[in-house]
Amino acid sequence: MPDLLLLSSINHATFQMKKKRNVAKQTYNFEKEIHNYCLSCGNDITHPLCPNCIAKAFEEWIKKFPEAKQIKAKLKPFMKYHNHIEAKSKPCVVCQKSVHVCPLCFTTHLHKLVKEAGLGVRPTIEFLFIFNFDFDHNGYSEELEVYGGY
Ligand SMILES: [Zn+2]
Ligand SMILES: [Zn+2]
Repeated sequence: MPDLLLLSSINHATFQMKKKRNVAKQTYNFEKEIHNYCLSCGNDITHPLCPNCIAKAFEEWIKKFPEAKQIKAKLKPFMKYHNHIEAKSKPCVVCQKSVHVCPLCFTTHLHKLVKEAGLGVRPTIEFLFIFNFDFDHNGYSEELEVYGGY
């Protein structure tokens, strides 16, 4: 059993690292390693659905908004970063490619892009409904509760 305190301090360190460094420029040199944890939050990837598959659905969804182009452009660096990681990870349940960042971290990033683009309350609620991976209700789903007590 790993020490929980140690584990949380590692997660904390990972988070600090992530904050300090430009995520898009990070490179990993552990090609032969297999990791089952999210490179962003350090938690086990329990719902292996890769950012590419989620992004496909997301890009389909934002098509109807005039800000779609702008959001897609902002998403690009992340996708590039993710798809350049050569380590092996859990296979995506849809496309079988390695999942390096968990759906919760990725959709948290998408949520940030939606907010930054200023789509407004209705689209944001819609987003939270469609792309909700916050099963433990520790993240963005709290916002949904604020909007309407769902
Ligand atoms: Zn994560
Ligand atoms: Zn996939």
